Amino acid sequence: MSNHITVENLTHTYDTRCALDHVNFSVSRGEVFGFLGPNGSGKTTLFKILSTLITPTSGVINIFGHDIYTERKLIRKLLGVVFQQPALDGKLTVIENLRHQGHLYGLRGRQLNDRINELLKQFNLNDRTKDLVEELSGGLQRRVEIAKALLHSPQVLLLDEPSSGLDIGVRRQLSEYLSVLAENEGICILLTTHLMDEADECKRVAILDDGRLVALGSPDELKSQIGGDVVSVETKNNESLYNAIEEKFHVSTTITEDYIHIESTRANDLVKDIMVAFPDDILSVRLSKPTLEDVFIKLTGSKFV
Ligand code: ADP
Repeated sequence: MSNHITVENLTHTYDTRCALDHVNFSVSRGEVFGFLGPNGSGKTTLFKILSTLITPTSGVINIFGHDIYTERKLIRKLLGVVFQQPALDGKLTVIENLRHQGHLYGLRGRQLNDRINELLKQFNLNDRTKDLVEELSGGLQRRVEIAKALLHSPQVLLLDEPSSGLDIGVRRQLSEYLSVLAENEGICILLTTHLMDEADECKRVAILDDGRLVALGSPDELKSQIGGDVVSVETKNNESLYNAIEEKFHVSTTITEDYIHIESTRANDLVKDIMVAFPDDILSVRLSKPTLEDVFIKLTGSKFV
């Protein structure tokens, strides 16, 4: 039996609209694997397919040795799913929510208590067990939600935009919990996101654009595709200056609505040279280390929105 998730040539079409176009990837135990893409790139469709809510149009999906078309029920038992919409009862306490969910899975007595205690410890919720869920912060609620999805000890945890609505500090903390969880429990964690910082914390990231998987690798591997640092130039007329900069400095540039982006191994000097060459046209110049957004811009030629 294979010990991971394999997806080959996954395609999904709604009527005539192709939402996923021959997508390929595999995920190993212990990995946090992120799908990063802008609105409409196909993340929700992929999440729904993996969580067995919809059947794909075509392609192979094998989860821990089971086929998604013929072994749906078996696969469902292997999955823990966290939807974007909260699924906790705010009027119940943390422990009541967890007990209730445990009963739904047929867990009782000692077995259920031990699993709940293990998860409360793992998510640092021990001192919140008697708090009403509606009185918890957004970040704590998310942790309870994830603990709930893990009660039946799934092999795969699927999360749809787990950080949405949380601020950056809480997002980072949540990412840490997920990384430790993947390693400690040896499970596969797959999440969708449109947030660069959340994708940055994943072990590997698949970048989706318009239903196509345009890049796959660790965040560092993906960023190393950018040849050096990135200079972002804001001008009065991006279209005309774009050509002028390419011609004068022999660099490769990408244009988005707001900026001209230039990757260069001599980015520092380039900032100065551009200011000197086009003093009247420049509104601002920014120098930065490459981000996953720069990778997206380089690969697709469009802004990440
Ligand atoms: P994301 O989650 O990245 O925003 P989606 O998977 O929701 O992307 O959407 C991918 C594409 O499929 C979009 O073009 C979207 O309009 C289309 N789409 C999504 N759901 C449906 C549906 N139920 N019927 C028709 N088209 C859909």
